[in-house]
Amino acid sequence: MADHLSKVIQEERPSRPDYASLAKQLAAIVGSDGVSADGADRLANCRDYWPMGTLWFLEGKSPALPDLVVWPRRTAEVAAVLKLAVENDVPVTPYGEGSGALGGAIPLQGGIALDLKRMNRVLKLDRDNLMVTVQPGMNGARYEEYLNRRGFTGGHFPQSLRCSTVGGWVACRAAGTFSTRYGKIEDMLVSLEAVLPDGTIVHGRDLPRTSTGPRVDHLFLGSEGTLGVITAVTLRIWPYPAARIYRSYAFETIEQALEAIRRLIQAGARPAVVRLYDSAETAHHFPECKEAAGRALLILLFEGDGGIIAAEAGLAAGCAGEQGALPAGSEPVERWLKTRFDIGISSALFRQGAVVDTIEVSTNWTNAAPLYHAMQKAMLAVEGTVLASGHYSHVYPEGTALYLTLIGFPSGDKEQYYKRLWGAAMESCLALGGAISHHHGVGLHRGLWMAQEHGTTLEALRLIKRAFDPQGIMNPGKLGLEEAAKWRQ
Ligand SMILES: Cc1cc2nc3c(=O)[nH]c(=O)nc-3n(C[C@H](O)[C@H](O)[C@H](O)COP(=O)(O)OP(=O)(O)OC[C@H]3O[C@@H](n4cnc5c(N)ncnc54)[C@H](O)[C@@H]3O)c2cc1C
Repeated sequence: MADHLSKVIQEERPSRPDYASLAKQLAAIVGSDGVSADGADRLANCRDYWPMGTLWFLEGKSPALPDLVVWPRRTAEVAAVLKLAVENDVPVTPYGEGSGALGGAIPLQGGIALDLKRMNRVLKLDRDNLMVTVQPGMNGARYEEYLNRRGFTGGHFPQSLRCSTVGGWVACRAAGTFSTRYGKIEDMLVSLEAVLPDGTIVHGRDLPRTSTGPRVDHLFLGSEGTLGVITAVTLRIWPYPAARIYRSYAFETIEQALEAIRRLIQAGARPAVVRLYDSAETAHHFPECKEAAGRALLILLFEGDGGIIAAEAGLAAGCAGEQGALPAGSEPVERWLKTRFDIGISSALFRQGAVVDTIEVSTNWTNAAPLYHAMQKAMLAVEGTVLASGHYSHVYPEGTALYLTLIGFPSGDKEQYYKRLWGAAMESCLALGGAISHHHGVGLHRGLWMAQEHGTTLEALRLIKRAFDPQGIMNPGKLGLEEAAKWRQ
């Protein structure tokens, strides 16, 4: 373990708090079993699923280490912990389940890792108004199971469902695979409660809509722990779907498939799942599907009222047929449902020396195919890259998300390769006017391109940050709000 205590990119903070004394004061708030300075606990909260953090960890190093881990159970405890942190100028990094993909949960300046997993209770189920209020540390799969047992669904199924929290979804502006019918997390959010660094508790109201000024609680959507701590979340829920229809279609080209999807969505259909795989991913995920050999496969899952979804599926058949698609049946959708949470392959590749990552961006329909070709070309041009495949998911009347999977076996330094690969991807995305992230968020790493993404808007975001958190204790170095000098080097 001693090796892992070396911190690759930790930034120093001028204040030098007495952590032994602080731990005693924290124990008075959260109980003695709610605070730890133990090495194993600190290691468990030092990183997330960001591939660079994994690569360092496999080499026996940590990106950065918290000095203390704290597990609150109630909102009042979170408020007291934050007040104490401000008094002692101690950074606080909220921690859900650490499934973030960009280093957002890394405690870049040490301090307190505020692990929210003990705040995992359902606070209220409102059956009549179809809403549920939960604490932020509730695990995603438990959340869905709780609802299913009572005849509802939350409609939010990120691939990380089993290893992420409800609070983490809101903090990262997440999107689940059933998003075309149920929406992304911002469409599901009714209201939330959050604690500001000075201990103030802010909240919205559980009403369908309000027109009483900007929604302060909604500022926490996508805030990634930089403004305060989300302590309760009220989300929309739906009756468990009565019926489902599975369809798939194989297209000669990506362009034809995108045109079919665009027409279907713009005609008003809302399949829950819409996923279009390029030929490389089709071959990888659906090797048994004869119709799809050498083609791009589109899978569609409709759910809800039987009559409505039958009409939507009929519309889909027409749109696909107009683009010359071959119907490929329901089996590919069934296969996807069985394998959708499998992530083991990337761990195996890391151990074989590969660099593996995924990059998700968004764009309008008119740019959807050119962006895929440009980003793929730019990443394959980086020496060492052996795969840059893609699929589209999360579709809208105005456009779509594009998700690229990358595998490289660089001959030289992995960190330099990783930066070159991402540089190629982000620059080509920005050059074609795409948004540099659709749902994984910014964390530490994407902060390098936030100025290019936002222009003057980033300064406005910094003003909001300074107003909420003048001392800069909340998750420093993230969202590109402050410089993360060691990682930028
Ligand atoms: C295999 C895999 C698949 C994934 N698939 C998807 C997907 O389909 N869709 C998708 O959107 N994302 C996906 N992700 C990304 C990730 O799961 C999401 O970003 C998720 O929302 C993070 O939740 P978490 O609880 O693990 O948060 P963490 O990783 O613990 O934290 C993420 C960020 O949120 C902050 N944070 C966490 N909780 C709070 C809180 N209560 N208050 C304030 N800030 C908080 C943290 O400080 C950190 O900055 C995937 C990740 C992996 C590894």
